[in-house]
Amino acid sequence: MIQLIRGFKDILQPEASLWQHIENEARRLFESHGYREIRLPILEKTELFARSIGETTDIVEKEMYTFADRSGDHLTLRPEATASVVRAYIQHKLSGTEPIRKLYTIGPMFRRERPQKGRYRQFYQIDAEVFGISSPYADAQMILMLAKLMERLGVTGISAHINSLGCPECRPLYRENLKAFIHQHTEELCEDCLRRKDKNPLRVLDCKNESCRKAMTEAPELLDQLCTACADHFALVRRELDRRNLDYKINKRLVRGLDYYTRTAFELQTDMLGAQSAVAGGGRYDGLVKTLGGPDIPAIGFAIGFDRLVEVITQAKPPETPAPSVFFIPLGESAMEKAFDFCLQLAEKSIEADTDYSGRSLKALMKRADRLAAPFVVIMGDSELQAGEVSLKNMATGEQRPVPLDSLVEILSLEISGQEAPESGTQDP
Ligand code: ATP
Ligand code: MG
Repeated sequence: MIQLIRGFKDILQPEASLWQHIENEARRLFESHGYREIRLPILEKTELFARSIGETTDIVEKEMYTFADRSGDHLTLRPEATASVVRAYIQHKLSGTEPIRKLYTIGPMFRRERPQKGRYRQFYQIDAEVFGISSPYADAQMILMLAKLMERLGVTGISAHINSLGCPECRPLYRENLKAFIHQHTEELCEDCLRRKDKNPLRVLDCKNESCRKAMTEAPELLDQLCTACADHFALVRRELDRRNLDYKINKRLVRGLDYYTRTAFELQTDMLGAQSAVAGGGRYDGLVKTLGGPDIPAIGFAIGFDRLVEVITQAKPPETPAPSVFFIPLGESAMEKAFDFCLQLAEKSIEADTDYSGRSLKALMKRADRLAAPFVVIMGDSELQAGEVSLKNMATGEQRPVPLDSLVEILSLEISGQEAPESGTQDP
């Protein structure tokens, strides 16, 4: 038997329904904040990621699925979405007509990492980006929107971490201080960190290696050395989060893995997924649009790790297979045809109904109804049908009653929408 590739996965039922639910909630929330969807290709030129994410990052150094296509072009399965969104923003001159754009996109990303819990080689992100707003209100809005999504999804045990990564004004000096500190601790650092320490010293702060973490506990902190403009920016972000009573932590170690970030960086973290603690991450990237050849336009974005979000939700409450609202049990040929008609008619009213065409006994079909967990069952015997009636059974209460055929759809609609069906024959005065 041919099996799927290591680090890849199938999303089966009932989990896939949970994915759908999360996606719907995210879309609804983002759209109500003025975000609009953008759909992008999964394959891009390798250069796009090398230039945006940075040559000395884990992703570009060792995680990208890169190959030469038949004409020799170097292509890469996207490891993240931001670079592609920025490319599209520049390529289609979206800044020309209306520079302020709020966009979101949902889809698979590819990184060749070591597969483990919460870490896959194809994983999914829900990604949002805002272009053209340098104000810290945009930063606060994004963080609050992320927190709101968690609230709507009923996710608990997640906390927001925020930090500022400074700007080209204040970061260079800090970088030098950090480099000097790192040079005094080279013996304690891992190979990756040693290789990158000069080109990208901030990455050392982000290393997950225990010994590197220890070595860096006393490292100087950027947050204490921000320029006035960055400090003011950060203060306003905090003020807006405080005003809405968002529970967040200032995390001076939070540097994010990619090169393009400036000022506000944030993550949603959980302790429910072992070492894979980040459920979402984002930040401001004011220089990236220009770096990729576009106009000088500020931007900020985040990406939610869809798979990890699902895992956090599933740990708290395993998803259930969605059940049809009603299951028809036809006993006989003419009943089967009626059941078939009713299923179509109810689907038209957005009520999910199902039936069975096997011709099996009432007992066997009641068993199937139980397995499907339909809250209502309609039993249709040929003799009852001739009298213009069927039996409606409420599976929660066990109550069973005769219902006239021609008001079945109406009664089911009422029952299913949680209302009491009117007693037959009684009329409101
Ligand atoms: P990590 O520190 O866990 O490696 P990251 O900083 O590389 O995460 P980002 O590039 O910020 O991740 O991507 C945003 C989110 O996507 C992460 O917070 C995480 O939830 C999710 N994510 C990243 N890599 C993977 C992966 N290999 N498998 C599943 N989810 C992932
Ligand atoms: Mg990573």
